[in-house]
Amino acid sequence: MDTRNIMDESQVAELKKDFMYNRKYTLAKDHYTATNYDNFQSLALSIRNRLIARWILTQQRYHDENCKRVYYLSMEFLIGRLLANNIMNMGLEKESEKAVSELGFNLEEIYEQERDAGLGNGGLGRLAACFLDSMATLGIPATGYGIRYDYGIFRQEIINGFQVERPEEWLVLGNPWEFGRPEYILKIKFYGKTIQRTDKNGKLKVDWVSNDNILAMAYDIPVAGYKNGVVNNLRLWSARSTEEFDLEYFNDGDYIKACEKKIMSENISRVLYPSDSIFKGMELRLKQEYFFTSASIQDIIRRFKMHNADLRAFPEKIAIQLNDTHPAIAIVELMRILLDEEDLEWDTAWFITVNTFAYTNHTIMPEALESWPVSLIGALLPRHLEIIYEINKRFLNEISIKYPKDHDKIKSMSLIEEGEIKKVRMSNLCIIGSHSVNGVSALHSELLKTTLFKNFYEFYPEKFNNKTNGITQRLWLKNANHGLSGLITELIGDSWITELSELKKIIPNSDNELFKSRWRDIKRQNKITLSEFIWKHKGIPIDPDSMFDVQIKRIHEYKRQLLFILFLIAQYLKIKNGVLKNAVPRTAIIGGKSAPGYYMAKLIIKFINNVAAVINNDPETSSKLRIIFLENYRVSLAEKIFPASDLSEQISTAGREASGTGNMKFMLNGALTIGTLDGANIEIMEEVGQENIFIFGLKTEEVLNLKKNGYNPKDYIAKTPILSEIIDLINDNFFSRFETDIFKPIVNNLVNHDEYMIFADFESYIKTQDIVSETYLDKNKWTKMSIMNTALAGKFSSDRTIREYAKDIWKV
Ligand SMILES: *Cc1c(COP(=O)(O)O)cnc(C)c1O
Repeated sequence: MDTRNIMDESQVAELKKDFMYNRKYTLAKDHYTATNYDNFQSLALSIRNRLIARWILTQQRYHDENCKRVYYLSMEFLIGRLLANNIMNMGLEKESEKAVSELGFNLEEIYEQERDAGLGNGGLGRLAACFLDSMATLGIPATGYGIRYDYGIFRQEIINGFQVERPEEWLVLGNPWEFGRPEYILKIKFYGKTIQRTDKNGKLKVDWVSNDNILAMAYDIPVAGYKNGVVNNLRLWSARSTEEFDLEYFNDGDYIKACEKKIMSENISRVLYPSDSIFKGMELRLKQEYFFTSASIQDIIRRFKMHNADLRAFPEKIAIQLNDTHPAIAIVELMRILLDEEDLEWDTAWFITVNTFAYTNHTIMPEALESWPVSLIGALLPRHLEIIYEINKRFLNEISIKYPKDHDKIKSMSLIEEGEIKKVRMSNLCIIGSHSVNGVSALHSELLKTTLFKNFYEFYPEKFNNKTNGITQRLWLKNANHGLSGLITELIGDSWITELSELKKIIPNSDNELFKSRWRDIKRQNKITLSEFIWKHKGIPIDPDSMFDVQIKRIHEYKRQLLFILFLIAQYLKIKNGVLKNAVPRTAIIGGKSAPGYYMAKLIIKFINNVAAVINNDPETSSKLRIIFLENYRVSLAEKIFPASDLSEQISTAGREASGTGNMKFMLNGALTIGTLDGANIEIMEEVGQENIFIFGLKTEEVLNLKKNGYNPKDYIAKTPILSEIIDLINDNFFSRFETDIFKPIVNNLVNHDEYMIFADFESYIKTQDIVSETYLDKNKWTKMSIMNTALAGKFSSDRTIREYAKDIWKV
């Protein structure tokens, strides 16, 4: 089948013309003054202009049809770069390449100029970005709402092995994808007090008199579907001070003070909080949550009212998905508007609210759960706190009827956590205020029902459901891996681009020698490309024929980068001691950011770098083992790594990783997984079969039992000689020659009170890694397994995930 696009020569000419026009008239640059970034912008603007007509048409159509809309509220959208993606979705790949080369440039080099939009921490934010892509491609009338952070996730530098955070000024050179709407701004209220009054009908009313208002200005980014003419909207809010702000100061003649306060108020959208899966109760963060949520709800209501007279139709026209509890206050904000501004009765308002909202939980780890001090909410959002108490009062009444004597149960389900500092539990608010609660993998959704939200599941079984995460194959295979996607398309056509399960059509070729050798060659070529990148950036030569063994994800104790590094040390010792005669050469590649305040994670980064330095400088082992820490892991770097990976490290303590999506990107690109039975790894195993994945370690239940019966790390040291050897080495400062004892806290943790039970899984992990090595020696077997992994990745398309959300939750 010939699936090549026919080159549209007139488009090539038009693109060239637009490029030159934009460079000259939008950027005021010429051949002599244009920087590389200007050239990127010139092309981006030309592509953007081609999106606009479809964007306007799409939005007009949604408007005319008055169809049900989906709003995806998320504090994070980790979208990365957009140029290549938009060119692909517009079907202009060949035309752009030709136009650019005729102008004397190289398209890949232009792509490299774009700064990542790093508006997220990790998996949760990237999920939102994949969902936007799938919703547009499936033609779902969806809008993403979030924050336009001036500073997204920090840029990570490694200095002397330590992580150093630098501000990422992604906007300073200009962002060609966004449209600011200075004429469209909304008022967001903060602080102040509530005043009760009786209206003319004798009804009790509450007014919230705020004393600190801030404006939310909209910035829109078009989100194109794949070759379907649909362009949805991602609307990000930016904080602006109000004109009348602190009139007192102006009146008092303290002009500078007045301006200072004005400027301070714009800090709300300044910076993304860089902690992933850890809750920090900072006031500014709560302000961010309310800021973007209130702006979004106001915007949604305004749009609804353009077509609909009766607010009771709200749930038939609108579905709002909450990406974790970060936008949870939206539930209270909608209630407030319906009660105080729209004059609805409580029961009506509550019915509308519950039937509009749906909540996605992303973790069961207690340190990640949001609970805000009552005092903080009360000061910042006094009216919201009253409504929260009223919701709680009614809810507790309801459950007390069912569980009249069960005070423990009632206490655990309350919105309010009692204690020295009273707190509002945002997850409980989300469950009570939504009609749907979902986890993000089969295991995680089960754990929600049996552990964290057990009592809620008993009370509201119908609310609970699972939506296993997914990734968009358009970015993670088609765009990131031209070699592999080209081969696949040549063989089975290009229907997999919008229907990933079609990939299974390559299975009959998994025994075809020619196909296998082409498959191998593509992987090898991708590895050479990554080797060149590593050589250029780190000056370390790596062997493209070695096994690329990769762990890339946020640095977190539960993800157990330490387990990986302990294995690498063990491997090093075995090679050095001649225990492994024909060791399979490995290149371990590790990347990821730590939260800046997460002491242990930062020490783990330092440890990885020190171990890498020792091992990489040992000539005895250098042909067999290298460790590369790639700094500043982000979407655009991820696009380079996944296609070049042989082995995917998914080794979290069972029960801790809600789903994982990195695991899916590896699989799609033909990497084999070594992993625990955690998150979506379980479903990956179900798809590929036990023979095509390397599973090790304790299962969730065994982890829980071990914890209950008392996990003693020393038991494992006693029976695993290599473990004590490694611990002795670390204690003897073998990896910290001139930094005596810096890794003591790591050892201390591992040996005395390791919550993540690294030693309990160590032996099983090492043994499984030996099986991995053995398998890798059998090129044919490995290649077939690799093909099977890609072929059976269909389930993990975010298109599948979004279809399920649309059918089961949103009803669109
Ligand atoms: C996919 C992705 C993640 C999530 O990785 P996990 O292994 O699922 O934790 C984090 N960061 C980036 C840049 C990603 O692309």
